Amino acid sequence: MAIVVQKYGGTSVGNTKRLQNVAKRVVATSDRGNSVVVVVSALGDTTDELIRQAHAINAKPPEREFDVLLSTGEQMSSALLAMAIDALGHPAISFTGAQVGIMTDATHTKARIVEVRAKRIKEELDRGRIVIVAGFQGVTPDEDITTLGRGGSDTTAVALAAQLGADVCEVYTDVEGIFTADPRLVPKARKLAEVSYDEMLEMAATGARVLQLRSVEYARNNKVTLHVRSSFSDEDGTIVKEGDESMEQAIISGVTHDSGEAKVTILGVPDKPGVAASVFRVLADRTVNVDMIIQNVSEQGFTDISFTLAKEDLSRAKDAVADVVAQLGAKGASYDEDIAKVTLVGAGMRTHPGVAATMFEVLASNGINIEMISTSSIKISCVIAAEHVGTAVQALHEKFGLAGE
Ligand code: ADP
Ligand code: ASP
Ligand code: MG
Repeated sequence: MAIVVQKYGGTSVGNTKRLQNVAKRVVATSDRGNSVVVVVSALGDTTDELIRQAHAINAKPPEREFDVLLSTGEQMSSALLAMAIDALGHPAISFTGAQVGIMTDATHTKARIVEVRAKRIKEELDRGRIVIVAGFQGVTPDEDITTLGRGGSDTTAVALAAQLGADVCEVYTDVEGIFTADPRLVPKARKLAEVSYDEMLEMAATGARVLQLRSVEYARNNKVTLHVRSSFSDEDGTIVKEGDESMEQAIISGVTHDSGEAKVTILGVPDKPGVAASVFRVLADRTVNVDMIIQNVSEQGFTDISFTLAKEDLSRAKDAVADVVAQLGAKGASYDEDIAKVTLVGAGMRTHPGVAATMFEVLASNGINIEMISTSSIKISCVIAAEHVGTAVQALHEKFGLAGE
C-alpha cells in the first residue's frame, strides 16, 4: 500500500465545514487504497490569537511556556479532524508531535527536528487507521514541548514523509500552488507546474510563505517530492522536486516579497579585525537569525554595519545590540521597521546577464530607492521602503513577462 502524507494549513481547517471537507478528502484518499497520514495546522488564526494572549499576560513570555501554549492549537485541530473522520465512519486516531516521536533540539519557538521515531504511526496504519498528527511541534530528549517556527507544520509533514518513505507529500493550502508572485498581491500571477528545490528554497527564504523554508531544506536533503495544491479544488498544483533538464529553465521563475524584516544599523564601529565577528557572535548566541549584511566603507577608522532580521526577533536583537555598542565603543544604533525586501528568483539567471541591471532600472523608473542589495547565483534581492513594495513587485512581474496569457 502506498503511503501518502497530506498537510492541511490553517485556512483549510478554518471552521467546522472546512474540517468536514478535509475529512472527506482524507477518507477518499484512503478509499483509493492508500495508507494516509495527515498533518494539520491550528484552526484559522488560532496561533496568532494564542500569541496575542501570551503577550497580554507577559511582554516577554518564557519561551518554554510559549511553546506549550502554541502547541495546543494543533492539538485541538488534530482531535477535531479525527472526530470528523470518525463521523464519516472511518477509523482515525490523532497524536501530538511528542507522541509520534518528533524529536527536536531545545531551541524553543524555532526548534529543529533531529529525529523522527514513527513507530506508533506505522502500527496504527497497519491497523487500518488514518493517522492525524498535530503539526508544528516536537519534544526534546528532556520531554519539553517545542514548536518549529511559523509555518512549521509544513516541516512536520515533510519529516514524516521522509521517515515513512511516502510516495508524495501533499501540502494543501488556500491557493492553487506556487505562483510567479503572491497571488494576493499580483492577481495576474501564474501558477507554476514545477519548481526545483533550489528555486523554492530561494523563494521560501525571501518571503513566499506558502512553504516554510525548513520544509524545503528537509525535502531537498531527503528527496521528498512535494505537491502544493488547494484544499478547495481538485486541480493539480505545483510539484517541487530536484531540477533536471526536462524542467523549464526560466530566467525568472518568480518575484517574492517580504515585509516581515527590520533593518538595524550599528553606527561608528571601529574598523578593525574581529569586529564583525563579535557583533554577529553576540546575535547568534541569542538565536537571532540575521539575513542581509552590509558593511559600509570606513571613514577615519570607523564604519557602519547594517543588517536585516525578522521583526519578531527585533526586541531580542536590541538587547544584544546595546551590549555590542557598549563593548565595542560604537557610536550607537538605529532601527527601521518600515522596510521590505523584493527578490527575483530564477535558475536561468545563472547564464543570463543583465537581470540585475534591469531590476534596478525598474525600481529607479518607479522612483524607488534601493537601500541594500544581496545576490546568490539564482536570486537578486533589494531592500526598499515598505510603502513601495506593491508597486515594486507588480512592476518587476510585468517587466519580466511573468503573467499568464
Ligand atoms: P497555510 O495556512 O495553508 O500554511 P500560508 O498562509 O502559510 O498557508 O501560505 C499560503 C499563502 O502564501 C497564500 O495565501 C499566499 O498569499 C502566500 N504566498 C506568498 N507568495 C506566494 C507564491 N509565490 N505562491 C503562492 N502563494 C504565495
Ligand atoms: N500554526 C502554526 C503557524 O500559524 C504552524 C503552521 O500553520 O504551519 O505558524
Ligand atoms: Mg503555512
